[in-house]
Amino acid sequence: MIKIMATGGVLDPGAMGLEQHFSDAEMKGIVDAAHAMHLKVAAHAHGARGILAATNAGVDSIEHGTFLDAAGAQAMKAHGTYYSATLMAFSGVQGLMGTGKLPRNPKPRLARRSTSGARG
Ligand SMILES: [Zn+2]
Repeated sequence: MIKIMATGGVLDPGAMGLEQHFSDAEMKGIVDAAHAMHLKVAAHAHGARGILAATNAGVDSIEHGTFLDAAGAQAMKAHGTYYSATLMAFSGVQGLMGTGKLPRNPKPRLARRSTSGARG
């Protein structure tokens, strides 16, 4: 299997945020190439648009899915996409906040999650 960064993550130092990092065509190309080699594709995906785009591109699983919305969930159901919520990853990051062990301060993105009504 391969895992692609369909979106950024809460600890990423980059400025691209939590949304889609590949075009729709790029993600479809990655998925088609991987499937042609009999590889499953897991998508690291936090933002709703990235989750939806990765799902529509045909990835086999959504990892994290922090801001999964109804449209994304419906698309995942229609495509038979697996969901790995990795709730312990969020809990682990919360436990490291304020310890100086994180590469940068993830508080703004984590705070956004905790006030968005997202599950978990
Ligand atoms: Zn990930």
